[in-house]
Amino acid sequence: MIDVAVVGAGPAGLLAAAHLARSGLDVLLLEDHPRVGEPTHCTGIVSLETADLTDIPDELVLGRLARARLVAPNGGEARHAWPAAGSDAILAIDRAAFDQGLARRAIDAGASLRTGTAVRDVQLAADGVDLRTGAGPVRARACVLACGVSYRFQRQLGLGLPGQAIHTAQTEADATPGDVVELHFGRQVAPNGFAWTVPVVRGGRHRLKVGVMAMGDAGAYLDAFLERPPLRARVQGERAPIVRRLLPLRPIAKTYTDRVLVVGDAGGFTKPTTGGGIFYSLLTASLAAETLAEAFAAGRLDDAFLARYEHRWQARLGADLRVADWLRQFVTKCSDAEIDLLVRAMDSEDVQELVQRTARFNWHHDVIVALARQPGIATLIFRTLFR
Ligand SMILES: Cc1cc2nc3c(=O)[nH]c(=O)nc-3n(C[C@H](O)[C@H](O)[C@H](O)COP(=O)(O)OP(=O)(O)OC[C@H]3O[C@@H](n4cnc5c(N)ncnc54)[C@H](O)[C@@H]3O)c2cc1C
Repeated sequence: MIDVAVVGAGPAGLLAAAHLARSGLDVLLLEDHPRVGEPTHCTGIVSLETADLTDIPDELVLGRLARARLVAPNGGEARHAWPAAGSDAILAIDRAAFDQGLARRAIDAGASLRTGTAVRDVQLAADGVDLRTGAGPVRARACVLACGVSYRFQRQLGLGLPGQAIHTAQTEADATPGDVVELHFGRQVAPNGFAWTVPVVRGGRHRLKVGVMAMGDAGAYLDAFLERPPLRARVQGERAPIVRRLLPLRPIAKTYTDRVLVVGDAGGFTKPTTGGGIFYSLLTASLAAETLAEAFAAGRLDDAFLARYEHRWQARLGADLRVADWLRQFVTKCSDAEIDLLVRAMDSEDVQELVQRTARFNWHHDVIVALARQPGIATLIFRTLFR
């Protein structure tokens, strides 16, 4: 019997496996796809703070993003500059290469990796966890579920589903050079979400990632967005096939049970505002590994002991998740005309200064609370709440 089976070799599973192996445990990573990191669904935007949790070598960086443009349904704009240096500097990274680098580090730490091996069933027994895989049975003392946006095992184990999720679609193509991230809002563009463009340089070529997160058919909204004249003028040549994927926006009901912890997207950990999840995946993986190492040392793999994992992520992320979820509910209720007002407010000097002072890429609590106190925005919130 091995110590820990980790289901899924995305950032969450890979970092958890590396930490667990480093603490002396016998760890097996099971990954469905034949190659770690592929196919890639993600835009790969992270802040430099992510480097506190794992290395981000320069060769992974496809772009340093210093400016953002928010576009309202009526075409109004707000422009914001991001810090070009410091822990909040924003990078677009090569997600496949990032995951592959994490895999090398997990293996160097002593974890075993079996790719092309789907886990089909996870069953709790009195003295272990039984996994049925495409390559035969695996028995482990504990299991980390890091299987991304698949929730079969969580539901089976009584841990629930993400409280909310949204559809996404993304593609990439050659494009004219640029350095501005664009976010487009409105019911026609992306109901309950937004469309984005992110310029990167891959292999010396200027590329544009274009995506949509929306309620409904995200692929159809992406097709329509790509047909807009400014996009048609920027995108050149063949587009990569559209990748569609669900994005969780709220954690699952419970993220631990006897012998099992749930991390990353599998636990529903993304920022409810933007859907960004790499940082939260790495953070929850680190907290889960710390908890499991203690559990092995104490000989306690029971539900009551493993509850400290949920206390830990609640202490780090709880307030941010709650306030960002509140903002999302509010913006979702806004009409296009109200979004026009919000974007106009975002462009005002007061808000520009406030964002510079309070915004942090991975931590949205302070900027949201400060924004909600702005006179124009406070009135809008008040009206929306009583609608
Ligand atoms: C369109 C889009 C754009 C995004 N852009 C960003 C961004 O710019 N910045 C950001 O921070 N976040 C972004 N995200 C979110 C980010 O991609 C995820 O939060 C992140 O990938 C989660 O990592 P993870 O390890 O939890 O899951 P994943 O990366 O999904 O990894 C899960 C792994 O588990 C494997 N797996 C699943 N089921 C099984 C099974 N039964 N057996 C074996 N293996 C299994 C999968 O093959 C996969 O390799 C984006 C998401 C989407 C959809």
